[in-house]
Amino acid sequence: MSAACAWITHADCRLHEMGEGHPECPERLDAISDHLLSTGLMQLLVPYDAPLATIEQLERAHTAHHVREMLAAAPAEGYVRLDPDTSTCPGTIPAALRAAGAVVLATDLVMRGEVGRAFCAVRPPGHHATRDAPMGFCLFNNIAVGIRHALAAHGLERVALVDFDVHHGNGSEDILAGDERVLMVSTFQSGLYPFAGDEPRASNMANVGLPAGATGEDLQEAFDYVWKPRIDDFRPEMIFVSAGFDAHRADDMAGMRWVEEDYAWITRRIVELAERHCRGRVVSSLEGGYHLFHLARSVAAHVRELAGA
Ligand SMILES: [Zn+2]
Repeated sequence: MSAACAWITHADCRLHEMGEGHPECPERLDAISDHLLSTGLMQLLVPYDAPLATIEQLERAHTAHHVREMLAAAPAEGYVRLDPDTSTCPGTIPAALRAAGAVVLATDLVMRGEVGRAFCAVRPPGHHATRDAPMGFCLFNNIAVGIRHALAAHGLERVALVDFDVHHGNGSEDILAGDERVLMVSTFQSGLYPFAGDEPRASNMANVGLPAGATGEDLQEAFDYVWKPRIDDFRPEMIFVSAGFDAHRADDMAGMRWVEEDYAWITRRIVELAERHCRGRVVSSLEGGYHLFHLARSVAAHVRELAGA
């Protein structure tokens, strides 16, 4: 088994854009890859092109109705608005299919032992997309598609999902609540979009809402007192990460105060849990993070720990 870390992305993920000034923009991926190249970190990663997710893979997490609607949602030109924050353009569907396909490939690579861990540098993000609806910049729930692939195609029986985006992963909760093969642990800023999460929807959800102004110390407490005991009890066979970086203090999408070292710290703890329970298997996928300078550096801190560098 290799200890290397895969870097999975695709040029199609740049084709999706939602109009000038929208924070969820193609330049996010450029900022990340430029920084990883200039720091030499990219040389430590094994690059892969993301494949297109198949309809069968998408329908493990979504209704057939939702998949059909999304595949028909992109215009020949201009934009189509799906909700107040989310729209499609002519390049949206290839991007969305690559984003979900990346997490499927990451799962296959890690399960086959070709790499130890994987990071998916993709957009659109996924964790707000519910079973039957797009929402909050998300069309398909990339991480849930990967989780259901791990269960269905690789026969895993227990998979953990860690979500540290500043927004509650309501879409992942909608899809995975009550699925006892999955444990989802998360932190998010309470009282913020999508205005959910303070009351978990099922016993396989461990939601930690934090106040505006929360720091890395609050993250460490959430890990020590909630995430770690739940994950140790659950003994996952693989750990997935919804890696959002919008809790950074410089990110004006929310009011939390994490810094690069907090992302390194939590990633080290996740890797330790994976080493204890599941031969180090971690698949991480990009969610939010909108301050380009600190997004790039926070992803670097995360990936450096995944790669064991
Ligand atoms: Zn977010």
